[in-house]
Amino acid sequence: MDTTNSEQLFTKAQKLIPGGVNSPVRAFKAVGRHPFFVDRAQGPWIIDEDGNRYVDYVCSWGPGILGHAHPKVIEAVQQVCAKGLTFGAPTAGEVELAELIGACVPDVEMVRLVSSGTEAVMSAVRVARGFTGRDKIIKFAGNYHGHSDGLLVKAGSGLMTQSVPDSAGVPAGYAASTLTAVYNDEESVRSLMEENSGQVAAIVVEPVAANMGVVPPKEGFLEFLRRITKEQGSLLIFDEVITGFRLSLGSASEYTGVHADLYTFGKIVGGGMPLAAYGGRQDIMSCVAPLGAVYQAGTLSGNPVAVMAGITTLKILMEDTGIYERIDRRAAKLEAAFRQTGLCVNRVGSLLSAFFLPGWDGKEGKEIGERKVENYEDACQCDREAFADYFNRMLERGIYVAPSQFEAMFVSDAHSDELIDRTCSAIKESVEECRVV
Ligand SMILES: *Cc1c(COP(=O)(O)O)cnc(C)c1O
Repeated sequence: MDTTNSEQLFTKAQKLIPGGVNSPVRAFKAVGRHPFFVDRAQGPWIIDEDGNRYVDYVCSWGPGILGHAHPKVIEAVQQVCAKGLTFGAPTAGEVELAELIGACVPDVEMVRLVSSGTEAVMSAVRVARGFTGRDKIIKFAGNYHGHSDGLLVKAGSGLMTQSVPDSAGVPAGYAASTLTAVYNDEESVRSLMEENSGQVAAIVVEPVAANMGVVPPKEGFLEFLRRITKEQGSLLIFDEVITGFRLSLGSASEYTGVHADLYTFGKIVGGGMPLAAYGGRQDIMSCVAPLGAVYQAGTLSGNPVAVMAGITTLKILMEDTGIYERIDRRAAKLEAAFRQTGLCVNRVGSLLSAFFLPGWDGKEGKEIGERKVENYEDACQCDREAFADYFNRMLERGIYVAPSQFEAMFVSDAHSDELIDRTCSAIKESVEECRVV
């Protein structure tokens, strides 16, 4: 595999950009190699600066549900560009996108468009605080909600009530109002709610976790969160930045049947452009300025080009009623291939992760058997060296999966059955080779 051009670019990039990348996971640090630089992408393929072609299961970390450069999306974006790139004034497209989001997820009676998932969750949390007049929030270890200060918090060792910043530069004071619970553990939530009675503005959760690898909610867990927030006068925020329009058109709320008060969307809703959204009940969203007292703004919010990419993508998803069945079925084939290798797999719809849990190689005579990944601590048990080995062997076979054990594999509508079959063979061969080493 020739990597000359990517290597040259990475050398130069490292002098100019921290780590050579504009988002850390792109640096491929966890898999012990240098990143490829992308020239272009089409359908299921991503092509690097040296002309290497990979089947892409990262899909820009989620937006690419239709595959890359869908002709209808590209055409609509090109047309709208000709009218000007930004106006800083309202446009018809914003109204249409708000209407489409509400048509898909009826709980979203009112919605605000922003430019990133980070901004969406940060703003939803502010609205929850403004609406309830309370300061504290509860999040879950291993759930990711973007890089705003108050959400870059992890549980302190041992004591779940002691929260510590997950990044340098986050004041301890911010961390203090973010309480961290254990995903899928009702007791951890109940005790935080009791200790902080009357002070919790919201519980924010990934309804299907996809940032510690894919971890489905246990039966009854989301219903429990719904019940306890209602009892305590707190709001429930579903962070659907990944799951929104991915699990179904109605997103995780439809998929799981549980309804939140506020929702955040990103990734797919922007159709590949920098656009995200937060919204929900009208009485809550009425707190947002200029209607209410919660301030939130953006020079490029509701950008017409990004809005057009979002509208076109959502319309394709709404018109093509077979798409979710197709991507689910293809993801199920990949799941089966991983199971044949003996790895632990979690799959929800077209999102899946295989976990290299201790004993995965059978060398110590241990069977993984019924071991499961249900929370962050479980995911952290994984053999990351084995994962890196697997990643590299897949890449050598022309298949690009996320360069981290803690990311999901995304299946798009552009992944043909033939490519899926080829990927299944690559999975079996790669895992088998890792085992022999
Ligand atoms: C990606 C992601 C975010 C952050 O979105 P950005 O657009 O990267 O800021 C927030 N929440 C979840 C669940 C995500 O997966």
